[in-house]
Amino acid sequence: RAKASLGTDVCFYEEEMDEAVRNRRRMAQQMREALDQGQFSLNWQIQAAVDTGEITGYEVLLRWIQPDGTFISPADFIPLAEENGLILPIGEWVLRTACAEAAAWAEPHKIAVNLSPVQLGHVDLPRLVHQILIETGLPAARLELEITETAMITDMERTTHVLRQLKLLGVSIAMDDFGTGYSSLSTLRAFPFDKIKLDRSFMSELDGGPQSAAIIRAVLALGESLAIPVLAEGVETLEQLTFLRDQGCDEVQGYLLGRPQKTAEGHIQQAARVLWDGAPPLEDAA
Ligand code: C2E
Ligand code: MG
Ligand code: MG
Ligand code: MG
Repeated sequence: RAKASLGTDVCFYEEEMDEAVRNRRRMAQQMREALDQGQFSLNWQIQAAVDTGEITGYEVLLRWIQPDGTFISPADFIPLAEENGLILPIGEWVLRTACAEAAAWAEPHKIAVNLSPVQLGHVDLPRLVHQILIETGLPAARLELEITETAMITDMERTTHVLRQLKLLGVSIAMDDFGTGYSSLSTLRAFPFDKIKLDRSFMSELDGGPQSAAIIRAVLALGESLAIPVLAEGVETLEQLTFLRDQGCDEVQGYLLGRPQKTAEGHIQQAARVLWDGAPPLEDAA
């Protein structure tokens, strides 16, 4: 207990901290139960080639819906799971479930699975991935692993070693949320990524001024000279898609093409097909 002489503010902060600690403990316990009780599920979000509109793959996104129907965003629970180590069993569940689901699809599309830096720091990861590929029968060439630059910063040497081992299995590696970290460029120098995923913040700011457009162009040029395809995340409007096509972007992902959904059988939304089929925009359709 803080001394009263320090004033009531100290007590107040302490109570708030207690409350925060309790909340985290409760959430950690709930996460454990969620894994045991099957409260986690997977959503799939379509990815497409900008020049043809062909489906190039699906990103797997983790969903947690509690028994009372409460939805908890991965952006909220994954950081906590990374802190308390639960990301290891949760991440393994995601990988295994995603590979098993995809192996059963009629069409052999690629899948992209997000990896936490904590999973990368785990020595058995290449072996685990190898084992899951064998177990599920998913060809390695259909699996792409997405990592953020945070993973590279923590221990660049070790991480690149693990990534190289993963690539030897035949899986590909994508750099996720490119452009948001402290060291995007040195990350690209450290490892030959198979794809750059440009963070969606650049897309959402595209209408706000010339800066985002200039940065997007620069990243596309960078990808071009490094011979690494660039995928733009968070594409929501036809204007954004048209801009990306005109600038030579390789792939796109975002609500315009499709929201994350329970199955990967969805088609690209009509709104995006406008660009590729010359179909009339939705507003014009009778
Ligand atoms: P991310 O890997 O960058 O995934 C893309 C996020 O952008 C997803 O949010 C997706 O729903 C959202 N998104 C896609 N298109 C649009 C769009 O057009 N507009 C907007 N505003 N958002 C769009 P989600 O599903 O909430 O996931 C958030 C983050 O949580 C992911 O970012 C990823 O870092 C992490 N995450 C999700 N699933 C997993 C997982 O299985 N393992 C790990 N380690 N992290 C995961
Ligand atoms: Mg991702
Ligand atoms: Mg991303
Ligand atoms: Mg992102």
